[in-house]
Amino acid sequence: MTDESPAKNSATNGVNETTLVTAGRKKEWTHGIVNPPVYRASTCLFETYQELQVRIADPTNGKLFYGRKGTPTHWSLSDAVTELEGGEGTVLYPSGLAAVTGAILSLVSTGDHVLVSDSAYDPTRAFANGFLTKMGVHVTYFDPLIGAGIDSLFEDNTKLVLTETPGSLTFEISDLPALCKVAKKHGAYVIADNTWATPLLFNPLEHGADISVHAATKYLGGHSDVMLGTATANKRTFKKLQRTAFQLGHTVSADDASLVLRGLRTLGIRLKQHEENALILAAWLSERPEVDTVLHPAFETCPGHEIWERDFAGSSGLFSIVLKGGDYADTAALVDDMKLFKMGFSWGGFESLILPSNPASARTAVPWQSVGPVIRLHIGLENTDDLIADLQAGLERYSAKIGS
Ligand SMILES: *Cc1c(COP(=O)(O)O)cnc(C)c1O
Repeated sequence: MTDESPAKNSATNGVNETTLVTAGRKKEWTHGIVNPPVYRASTCLFETYQELQVRIADPTNGKLFYGRKGTPTHWSLSDAVTELEGGEGTVLYPSGLAAVTGAILSLVSTGDHVLVSDSAYDPTRAFANGFLTKMGVHVTYFDPLIGAGIDSLFEDNTKLVLTETPGSLTFEISDLPALCKVAKKHGAYVIADNTWATPLLFNPLEHGADISVHAATKYLGGHSDVMLGTATANKRTFKKLQRTAFQLGHTVSADDASLVLRGLRTLGIRLKQHEENALILAAWLSERPEVDTVLHPAFETCPGHEIWERDFAGSSGLFSIVLKGGDYADTAALVDDMKLFKMGFSWGGFESLILPSNPASARTAVPWQSVGPVIRLHIGLENTDDLIADLQAGLERYSAKIGS
């Protein structure tokens, strides 16, 4: 584990808090005020026949065409994310899940084979097992810790590797550079879901991925009041990504883009506090008699911890614990009376969340075995003494319930 300064590497293209403040604020989008205006638009007007023809010939170069294809509010956000993630360009989506599925659809065709991390976000898995399978794409799940061993899973038609590192429930850290090296050898693409790390802590494109995806719903938005996704692509894949999003009709409201831009400006300071609070809570939990394992990437007990240490610039506020005994029904005693840790999906907002979550049903490559229930925690910006008191009372209720 680490309790010294969290920032070990700068794995992030020199991206820092300054980039968060300045990114995407070019004068064309802001017209000289601090934030770009919120352009609510469907119809955009053309002055002349000539102008109409010019815009039809190239509707993608940041000039108004039709609301669905974006406005300066959207371009300010997509530019900002591109500055943070590197790459050729960023496409915005109505949710993080739409960004994942939109990115996959831009790269695969019927008859292809894709490799998906066994720890991937559950709805991503549902898409792979449902829609992708229905369109004739064959899916194989791989052990998130497989590293270069993924080579043995490649088939002649393997087109894509999809990773999420760390997994957002079980937190295994994958060796993305090793996966990318093998994928490159086979001419396959790599998509990495970078939601946990944010662009500040990890840069997938720099480590060899073709597309980096964010559920901006989480830390980029940061206030639990907006749904939005982003996918940032390298030169090799950007046109495919953009074309597919246009064909699918993906669009987001300017109000939502503006909320994410607002969130982005304070991501640096929020993330530092989430990190610090989560490290305090995780260290405290690791000493508790009710807790078997702390699955926090900065702790040695987290599978792939050494990869995190090598590749990541720090940790965010989301991690899990494995309880020592009892079963999922018993966790009601823990979660029902929490004062600060509220129960609900998603994370990345200012508030703390708690979620009993059983990984077993969503595992095929590496069956999930643990001594007790998995509880996922998002550590918010509250006072850590208050958070500890809340968890302590909850763990004591749990202990009394299971009679240990
Ligand atoms: C939440 C999440 C998503 C999906 O984002 P939504 O905006 O909720 O659709 C995708 N990937 C990861 C890792 C997530 O945590």
